[in-house]
Amino acid sequence: MRVNIDEIKEAGLRRSWDVAREQVDDILQGDKAGYRARGPLHVDAKLEKIDRRVRVDAHGRAELTVPCGRCLQPVSLDQPVDFELTLVPSDEYVDEPRGEHDSSTGPIGGSFEAERADEEVYTGKVVDLDPILREQLLLAVPGYPVCKDDCKGLCPVCGANLNDRECGCDRHVPDPRWAGLKNVKL
Ligand SMILES: [Zn+2]
Ligand SMILES: [Zn+2]
Repeated sequence: MRVNIDEIKEAGLRRSWDVAREQVDDILQGDKAGYRARGPLHVDAKLEKIDRRVRVDAHGRAELTVPCGRCLQPVSLDQPVDFELTLVPSDEYVDEPRGEHDSSTGPIGGSFEAERADEEVYTGKVVDLDPILREQLLLAVPGYPVCKDDCKGLCPVCGANLNDRECGCDRHVPDPRWAGLKNVKL
């Protein structure tokens, strides 16, 4: 979603849009592999302009499926993707050392660490919310999803789902890192 900042009037601007299911899958590939979207990601955003700074207040909900990190059963997740941040025009960005040449090739990438977490820099008159949304979606989804907090996982011996039944295997595996210590006199 691209917004020309001139469209943002005093009362603010509301925008709602959907990110297609396939696109959500694309975003989650790599960093969050295993996640699949069950539907489009719906986003509602409110934009307000203070001078040339744009305040974005956005709420989204991603309907996702992912295998449980312990038992591999599919977990359905309605993941909120909520964020508030300020878009700062690049020429106003205070922590930014001024480039000696054209500001569009300036040191935006190099100053990443100085960038505050709730601020993003934009150039020109158009703000593009798609890369921000992409980043926020990746931040929102849990790195190690589980079907329930006390999921017992799979038996490492026979692969049985221990939430369903106790298979009776001997799962006591001595840790090879400690085996050598048996002979060490303390
Ligand atoms: Zn599980
Ligand atoms: Zn077993």
